[in-house]
Amino acid sequence: MLDITSQAAEWMGLHFNPKKCASLHVDGGTRVLVRPSRFLIQGESMTSLEEEERYQHFGTPTGVPVWQTPKDTIAEILRDVAQIDSSLLAPWQKINALNTFLTPHISFVLRGSAMAKVPLKKADSTIRQLVKKWLHLPQRAYTDIIYISHRQGGANVPLVGDLCDMVVMTHAFHLLTCPDPTVRSIAQESVWGVVRKCITRAPSERDVATYLSGSLEAEHLGKRISCYWKWCEERRELGILVPRVKTTDHTIVTLTARAMLERSLKDAIHYHYTENLKRKPDQGKVFEVSSKWDASNHFLPRGSFTRLTDWRFIHRARINSVPLNGAIRHGSWDKHYRKCGYVNKTLPHVLCGCKQHSGAWRHHHNAIQN
Ligand SMILES: [Zn+2]
Repeated sequence: MLDITSQAAEWMGLHFNPKKCASLHVDGGTRVLVRPSRFLIQGESMTSLEEEERYQHFGTPTGVPVWQTPKDTIAEILRDVAQIDSSLLAPWQKINALNTFLTPHISFVLRGSAMAKVPLKKADSTIRQLVKKWLHLPQRAYTDIIYISHRQGGANVPLVGDLCDMVVMTHAFHLLTCPDPTVRSIAQESVWGVVRKCITRAPSERDVATYLSGSLEAEHLGKRISCYWKWCEERRELGILVPRVKTTDHTIVTLTARAMLERSLKDAIHYHYTENLKRKPDQGKVFEVSSKWDASNHFLPRGSFTRLTDWRFIHRARINSVPLNGAIRHGSWDKHYRKCGYVNKTLPHVLCGCKQHSGAWRHHHNAIQN
């Protein structure tokens, strides 16, 4: 195979760099798994990997036996996030840079490797702290707003853990419904084989769907947005049931709509976080209203028509965390407003209800009229 590859490359005038190529010879029959065989590419010898040595392939370490979690790549991504943070970009540009350059990088790496969740949690918490800082929110503020889409008033930054679950699910689904019959049959046979070993009898299609859903339920995502694998009897197809946005029913994604799966899952995740935030009792009603229309959130992606002062105020105001006496959630603190003596110093009172500020109302009124 290497000879054919070399031949084809020579026809096309390509030349491999043997220093960057590596080979791994695994022998399952002996105790020493990795053999030190040498392979040639275009007549030159490649590096041959030894046991526990690894090769970084598209950000994913490969080798035998190697823990596939790409810790180096995640550390590199976190370094980049820190550099974005210390740059002189405006806060909305920082969020945009994170979404444009680093999120696709993370999701690409997740596609290639079998991940452990612990390093991902660390990455999540670092990203969460920085995005809160960019949104000018206190660290104790609710985190849901980070994961909600721009259209509904959030920062549109995905949770890396969710991204990982989603990638695993879509990857499995794409393999099982691949248009190429060879790939599809290999994927299906291996799933059927695993289920047969687990239940020690020939599995039905329903068994396979239950098995795949079981593996989903262990993940947070499957449970949280309640999606699961289902065998569709009428169509004789395996599909994934995804909750529909804004209604209580579910929609089934099958072979014909395989390209839609990722989009539907993303929407379901955004919807889950939006509903979560709306349900929080001390949130006020602002978020419920502002998440309804795109027009209320037009400034989020590019910071259009927005000054830094507006940016620093608006996110805090929307989730009721402007530092006022009335916004303190716990304990029996004094919530009086010292200026006018009103019992509860809340944001609506200061902005719209307090007579002490009536001068500002008049200026506002006059400015509009003139
Ligand atoms: Zn007042």
